[in-house]
Amino acid sequence: MDELKVTEHIASSDKALFSFELLPPLKGQDFSAIQKTIDPLIEFDPAFINITYHQQEVVYDTLDNGLMKKRTVRKRPGTVGISAAIKYRYSIPVVPHIICGGFTREETENALIDLNFLGIKNLLVVRGDPPMGMKTFVPEPDGNTHAVDLVNQIAQLNQGRYLEKDIKNYRSTDFCIGVAGYPEKHSESPNLESDLHFLKKKVAAGADYIVTQMFFNNQKYFDFVKNCRAKGIDVPIIPGLKPITTQNQMASLPQAFHVDLPEVLVKEMLKCNNNNEIRQVGIEWAIFQSKELLKFGVPGIHFYTMGKSDNIREIAKNIL
Ligand SMILES: Cc1cc2nc3c(=O)[nH]c(=O)nc-3n(C[C@H](O)[C@H](O)[C@H](O)COP(=O)(O)OP(=O)(O)OC[C@H]3O[C@@H](n4cnc5c(N)ncnc54)[C@H](O)[C@@H]3O)c2cc1C
Repeated sequence: MDELKVTEHIASSDKALFSFELLPPLKGQDFSAIQKTIDPLIEFDPAFINITYHQQEVVYDTLDNGLMKKRTVRKRPGTVGISAAIKYRYSIPVVPHIICGGFTREETENALIDLNFLGIKNLLVVRGDPPMGMKTFVPEPDGNTHAVDLVNQIAQLNQGRYLEKDIKNYRSTDFCIGVAGYPEKHSESPNLESDLHFLKKKVAAGADYIVTQMFFNNQKYFDFVKNCRAKGIDVPIIPGLKPITTQNQMASLPQAFHVDLPEVLVKEMLKCNNNNEIRQVGIEWAIFQSKELLKFGVPGIHFYTMGKSDNIREIAKNIL
């Protein structure tokens, strides 16, 4: 039987969906690294599991003669393989992320063909961040520049239009496309209005639903949904939550994800003496956020695990 699309699942469910995101483990690990994250969450009946994609990084090796040699390396390969392994071992729909960065349009099409063969129906389509150490995003020659271009490419494939024009007896794909939304705006966007303008273009190009960047103040999500609806963006908007786990994240999350931490949360974090206490504050804050979001009537709640799920388990126990 075909797996459910995220949007079909939302439409057919009378309660908010629970889902989470995994990072492929660093090169050298095997599937057991993934199982450690998934297994504690299985009893909460995840509706789908996302698997991120990571752009290659540029590294410099020092040669014997003292000169530096540039090389690119993908430190977390495996999104397609992990997606297939999860889908078939756990019988849970997977949502591999597809990124523009580091791929030509042809390489992207080949990955989509693989995913289609595997019976994977759902994708989350993002541009990708600039690689480590680089400030601006540079697409591959003949690659996609913005997420909207990638959505367009997938929408074309959904209509049976492959890059090679003269393919005979082709079959259309049938991917359900998710895209990213930013309640506190994307870092490169001059303002929220401009960001919404481009979000609307992603939906017009074929995006079926939106997953938000993490946020710690629910009001930002409520306002974002209101602004999207006022602009005519009418697809489901799934909130993404990240429970805080370390003291360092007080600085690193705002820096990396361009989000604000509410003063009351910061005050609670400052009272903590160690990361165990911080982790507990993070769990309680996420439970508080989740309960309010559920009351608001969100289509689902999506958790960013960053590879660790013991805290997500505590939250799920309290909200599901
Ligand atoms: C739910 C979620 C999942 C993610 N998963 C991953 C992942 O797996 N791997 C990864 O590397 N990163 C991931 N990211 C991070 C994401 O790649 C970065 O935030 C990236 O900088 C932007 O991606 P985007 O798809 O939002 O880009 P875009 O939609 O292309 O937007 C990027 C910026 O350009 C602007 N813009 C958009 N379209 C246009 C246009 N046509 N012309 C001019 N400006 C435009 C936007 O307003 C925005 O400021 C994820 C983010 C989220 C929220």
